[in-house]
Amino acid sequence: MENCLFCKIIKGEIPSARVYENDQVYAFKDINPQAPVHVLVVPKTHVASVSEIDLLSDEDVAACLRAVSLIARQESLSGGYRVISNCGPDACQSVPHLHFHILGGRRMSDQMA
Ligand code: AMP
Ligand code: ZN
Repeated sequence: MENCLFCKIIKGEIPSARVYENDQVYAFKDINPQAPVHVLVVPKTHVASVSEIDLLSDEDVAACLRAVSLIARQESLSGGYRVISNCGPDACQSVPHLHFHILGGRRMSDQMA
């Protein structure tokens, strides 16, 4: 997808701090971290958000969540963590390429929104 920020990051055209990568997913540190650990997990196939999940293969969908779990272990988030995927304007999604935020390393707010 041309002009997609995360597609450019996946291709290495824009630098990023890689945390994990396999054939299906790429994960990197959020540039504006909201917690001590703030990682973004993105499928290498471009879809806009969870709303377009039907356009992804089951393998890609599973790979995203498997990567979340693996990265949480890799980052030693044994106390727990939050997984968020903002979807559309009401959720303030700012980059229209599906991604899962992993937030951890501190106690999260008991308010989710
Ligand atoms: P969202 O608002 O859910 O679409 O999340 C987009 C996230 O991408 C935000 O948390 C941004 O801080 C993050 N972000 C934007 N540009 C970059 C970048 N070049 N490298 C890493 N993270 C980025
Ligand atoms: Zn993209």
